[in-house]
Amino acid sequence: SKQQSDSSGTTEQGFVEVRGARQHNLKNVDVRIPRDAFVVFTGVSGSGKSSLAFGTLYAEAQRRYFESVAPYARRLIDQAGVPEVDAIDGLPPAVALQQHRGAPTTRSSVGSVTTLANSLRLLYSRAGTYPRGQPHLDSDAFSPNTPAGACPKCHGLGRIYDATEKSMVPDDSLTIRERAIAAWPPAWHGQNLRDILVTLGYDVDRPWRELPKKDRDWILFTEEQPTVPVYAGFTPAETQRALKRKAAPSYMGTFTGARRYVLQTFATTQSALMKRRVSQYMVSGDCPECHGKRLRRESLSVTFAGLDIGELSRLPLSELTDLLAPVADGTAKDVAALARVHPEKALVAQRIAHDVLARVNVLTELGLGYLSLERGTPTLSPGELQRLRLATQVRSNLFGVVYVLDEPSAGLHPADTAALLKALDQLKGSGNSLFVVEHEVDVIRHADWIVDVGPDAGEQGGQILYSGPLEGLKAVKASRTRRYLFGDAEKHRGTRRSPKGWLRLQGVSRNNLKEVDVDFPLGVLTTVTGVSGSGKSSLVSQVLVELVAGHLGHAVPENEDEGEELERTVIHTTGGRIASGMEGIKRLVQVDQKPIGRTPRSNLATYTGLFDNVRKLFAATPAARSRRYDVGRFSFNVAKGRCETCEGEGFVSVELLFLPSVYAPCPTCQGARYNAKTLEIQYRGKNIAEVLGMTVDAAHDFFSEDPLVQRPLAVLREVGLGYLRLGQPATELSGGEAQRIKLATELQRAQRGSSLYVLDEPTTGLHPSDVDKLMTQLEGLVASGNTVILVEHDMRVVAASDWVIDMGPGAGDKGGRVVVAGPPEEVVGLPYSQTAPFLEEALG
Ligand code: ADP
Ligand code: ADP
Ligand code: ZN
Ligand code: ZN
Repeated sequence: SKQQSDSSGTTEQGFVEVRGARQHNLKNVDVRIPRDAFVVFTGVSGSGKSSLAFGTLYAEAQRRYFESVAPYARRLIDQAGVPEVDAIDGLPPAVALQQHRGAPTTRSSVGSVTTLANSLRLLYSRAGTYPRGQPHLDSDAFSPNTPAGACPKCHGLGRIYDATEKSMVPDDSLTIRERAIAAWPPAWHGQNLRDILVTLGYDVDRPWRELPKKDRDWILFTEEQPTVPVYAGFTPAETQRALKRKAAPSYMGTFTGARRYVLQTFATTQSALMKRRVSQYMVSGDCPECHGKRLRRESLSVTFAGLDIGELSRLPLSELTDLLAPVADGTAKDVAALARVHPEKALVAQRIAHDVLARVNVLTELGLGYLSLERGTPTLSPGELQRLRLATQVRSNLFGVVYVLDEPSAGLHPADTAALLKALDQLKGSGNSLFVVEHEVDVIRHADWIVDVGPDAGEQGGQILYSGPLEGLKAVKASRTRRYLFGDAEKHRGTRRSPKGWLRLQGVSRNNLKEVDVDFPLGVLTTVTGVSGSGKSSLVSQVLVELVAGHLGHAVPENEDEGEELERTVIHTTGGRIASGMEGIKRLVQVDQKPIGRTPRSNLATYTGLFDNVRKLFAATPAARSRRYDVGRFSFNVAKGRCETCEGEGFVSVELLFLPSVYAPCPTCQGARYNAKTLEIQYRGKNIAEVLGMTVDAAHDFFSEDPLVQRPLAVLREVGLGYLRLGQPATELSGGEAQRIKLATELQRAQRGSSLYVLDEPTTGLHPSDVDKLMTQLEGLVASGNTVILVEHDMRVVAASDWVIDMGPGAGDKGGRVVVAGPPEEVVGLPYSQTAPFLEEALG
């Protein structure tokens, strides 16, 4: 049943022919894939799907494109990696819609990514209603990112940050000596400010609230910075006497008002820690000038359909549609009136509205109607962002292109999958090819052609098991995908654990959740379901995590390098409280899809901590000891042992004129990251760079005599990551892989029970057979007395959970409520749950 190109070398019409593909783990394979078709690449994680779709087909298309636009760059492109393949015939130009790896911290929004914001600016500029006598504005004036548009008070940010008496003095029963001014700098610097106040004659031993308002205001808010003599260690009375005598002071000290200190530190400090510290004493609020709309007053005075552009950008897209539909077809009152006076303007309005509507419709159909144009892309999930880009492509009128996609169903409820398939069909219908890496069974079933890669991951994979229409896969015994498609995978066992207690949340408000009460069962596995935008993440990853973390007294777990994001997230408004149940929870573990680091310096080995033990093994070798090499010598972050040309990165970046910069292997160490001396040290015949180049599977065999290294490797294999290399940079890992690394790091710790594990869509990127492995791990956590709560779309997982909390019924304002909660059997058959019919199918 293996259908491949004949070796004659002639290209059949309408096919892409790949011969001799050896990228990563691909085993010198030949494959023939139809053009103008919907092709899905299947196989377990690490089998080589991406190596074929992205690493070979897309990379080759890119290379040809680069070559055609910049022949002089050829040498550099060659260095940056030409796919390992003998020949590819019949390959059209390719566009990749990949889920972003790592996190680009751009300040873009839904409006800018889709370019809909530009159209709306044009609409306001050309067809808006202006106050009498106001001249027309350029479309620039409707952008907060231009000097012509930005609100002068908040510089276009929409928010202002300030420090108030309440925020800086949280407990006004304390005296200044008792640190009433919590916002003051710690340690010596704080004492210095206090001693200056003593010199200035302020009473530092009376409770703050008893000080006169005039004094309190000066201490907190003055912009003056007097320099005065300080008598360190003197009492106030001794200080006053010394001043009278004009005794020599310990030193001269300069005072700074508390607010000035807080705002200045926040604005200028290089230290993320300091920034976080002072941010606790700040309050943020809508800018009083523009009310958070980020634009100048003149720009906001222009309206369309009665709304200024800020208000329009805040509407969910579904409401924007309702508003623009009558404009586009000319039935709107305003437009009709406009047509009588300025027919040309009415025509412009109609045309723009028509165009915007068509593009918004695609977004709404992809289940994104709950987004607003002003929503910042950093707050979107990778799946939502990919669908935004997909929608933009659907309207781009390109044809003859291959779109290469990475799991477009990520984050989608089964009820939304049909719309996704329709958008993909539309792309195909306009004459394009679709190469899609996907695990979702409904998407696979929809494909015209399947390329199944496997049978297993890494070395055990890399073969084309099948290439052809779906039905043919049924006969391919070696395929791991086959049994999930043709219904012979076993259904759920049917026994449910009962809750050992309840964690009760009350009055929960966040995003679209408005004063809801939710009870989470303890000691069982719970899945939280609902269409995308219904409020699952708001409830679980935001409110639940924050409230529980607050109760346990640990800060919400944060990424190391978050300084930048802090600006936008200083203070969140979560409403709600924990009414009961915390006695059953000793620890909170959030296993999310955020990257495990944003630089190529962090990787799987460093994150899990196993690299520390590997370095100890190298430092303990006789060769290392005779040269006095310590563990630091084997770190690529430390100058002693690393390659100095690339400072341990393994590659150097090459800037190309007019093109994105390209990373090329370091010319000195060829990617090894270490200097030659360090690489001379071997542990059981391998140097440190060779160890970092091993896959988890290979390392597991290699370190069989070193339990401290082997144990974390064993857990990584159990969560299906055996195919990753130890040194694979964090920036190359997908969100799902990052999440499984975090999970494995947790699992290797001793299990004590009473922990709450929170996971957001852990099955992203997982083949059904990998999902089974993951479930075994999660079941194990519950069996040792922990509570597991998952946000999940995969109905097989939902069917296997003990308890379901279904959010909805719809997205955005149409959701935000608990539709039903109970064991899976109770959820099915409820007519108002969008999850019920799909769950019923999975329960079988
Ligand atoms: P899939 O898409 O099926 O999950 P991949 O194509 O990503 O699988 O991976 C197939 C194999 O290639 C794995 O063993 C993986 O570790 C390896 N691999 C993936 N990316 C790289 C890379 N950049 N360098 C070396 N090996 C890689
Ligand atoms: P789900 O997890 O079910 O897909 P979310 O909790 O992400 O849903 O979203 C619920 C609603 O809250 C949606 O209307 C969404 O647009 C909104 N929302 C989510 N996160 C944010 C945010 N950071 N800022 C503003 N609105 C948000
Ligand atoms: Zn403003
Ligand atoms: Zn180097």
